[in-house]
Amino acid sequence: MRVAVVTVGDELLAGDTVNTNAAWLADRLTARGVRVERVTTVPDRVADIARVVNEYRAEYDAVVVTGGLGPTHDDLTMAGVAAAVGRDLVEHEEAKAWLTEHGGYSADELAEGTTHLPARAKMLPNEEGVAPGAVVEGIYVLPGVPAEMKAMFELVAEAFDGEATYVETVLTSEPESALVDRLRDVQAKFDVTVGSYPGDGVRLKLTASDEGELAEAAAWLRGQVELAEED
Ligand code: ATP
Ligand code: MG
Repeated sequence: MRVAVVTVGDELLAGDTVNTNAAWLADRLTARGVRVERVTTVPDRVADIARVVNEYRAEYDAVVVTGGLGPTHDDLTMAGVAAAVGRDLVEHEEAKAWLTEHGGYSADELAEGTTHLPARAKMLPNEEGVAPGAVVEGIYVLPGVPAEMKAMFELVAEAFDGEATYVETVLTSEPESALVDRLRDVQAKFDVTVGSYPGDGVRLKLTASDEGELAEAAAWLRGQVELAEED
């Protein structure tokens, strides 16, 4: 399964808020065997949200969108998603009912727009906050507040699956430039992919769908490079 993540918010683009939602979602989706192929941040603008979501829903099996829910003037995500799928934004009766029953709000207390979702979308209740999320045509719309986003993701996590992958890391003290031949060789000999992450030494990350193949590749590579001490 191939998935794109779209985070919405001017504050993310301005650097006011660190985009922890993108990292958290990428980590959770990857752990479920999903390939995350895009992480894109867009401003609080309906046309930008609609354009990117529309492009990604055509290309990927699912799109996860977070941020910009709720009734305030800069909460435009539902309007953008509705535009992307060519549906109206309408008052969602189930969302209203859920909020009055579970959220303890009376219908008049709810700010205008709080329960507006793309027509015929499935409502996702917000167990940690107010603004509901939605699922429509493979697009999963979640809130921006991290605790709300995480709780709502758990409601739909099962929809995301893929082939299990296994990971091993090899830490070497050699410089990255010296490793080129062995990185090429390990990928030629074994059915693994290798990521190379320089920092304090170089961390080589081997990924494979077969656990035995991965163990053989990691053992071979450990015999070929100068190993660094793990912290
Ligand atoms: P609510 O449901 O409360 O209206 P929302 O979906 O409208 O939330 P935003 O208004 O986009 O969410 O953001 C609310 C707060 O959540 C922001 O002030 C920011 O602190 C945090 N937030 C939003 N997006 C992210 C993100 N991608 N990573 C980390 N924090 C974020
Ligand atoms: Mg908001």
